[in-house]
Amino acid sequence: MTALIIPDKTKLDKPPLEIHYLGDRVLRSPAKRIAKVDDKVRQLAREMLQTMYSSDGIGLAAPQVAVNKQMLVVDSDPENATNPPLILINPQIKSASKELCDAQEGCLSIPGVYLDVTRPKVVEVAFKDETGRPRRIKAKGLLARVIQHEMDHLNGVLFVDRVKNDLMLTDELTKHNFSVKAVKPIA
Ligand SMILES: [Zn+2]
Repeated sequence: MTALIIPDKTKLDKPPLEIHYLGDRVLRSPAKRIAKVDDKVRQLAREMLQTMYSSDGIGLAAPQVAVNKQMLVVDSDPENATNPPLILINPQIKSASKELCDAQEGCLSIPGVYLDVTRPKVVEVAFKDETGRPRRIKAKGLLARVIQHEMDHLNGVLFVDRVKNDLMLTDELTKHNFSVKAVKPIA
């Protein structure tokens, strides 16, 4: 039954959900816990996956489609039809490595902008999957980065808030017609 909620990775001309962009306040409000994993939640997950694949993304958080809920979908290998996506409901970081690493990030809510962000290299994450079952994974590499980026969205934080290089940040945002004023730097 739950297998049905995972869509194939076809790109749709008209994805079911609308992605909101930097400057939109829906991206800044903290998401609420999901009390029960029911068919409505599964339907949202399915539509988020379809929207993510259609937009060539590797992760999407519910606030990006103006849904104020703690859910994110991730697929770090979208070109591979057999790699299953992950659906994370009420995710929590249980531990993060002291070792940090830098890598370039982008975001479906800030199209065209790519900048370096420093994050822990490995994270252990607890969450509920689409069946409501509690799960725990240790993520590293790209997966660890995507999960941390998407979990930031659940707290109203965007990757540009974490960019240290002000000059590059201003340059990239301006070039893509985003306002620097929409950034809320993390102290
Ligand atoms: Zn994002």
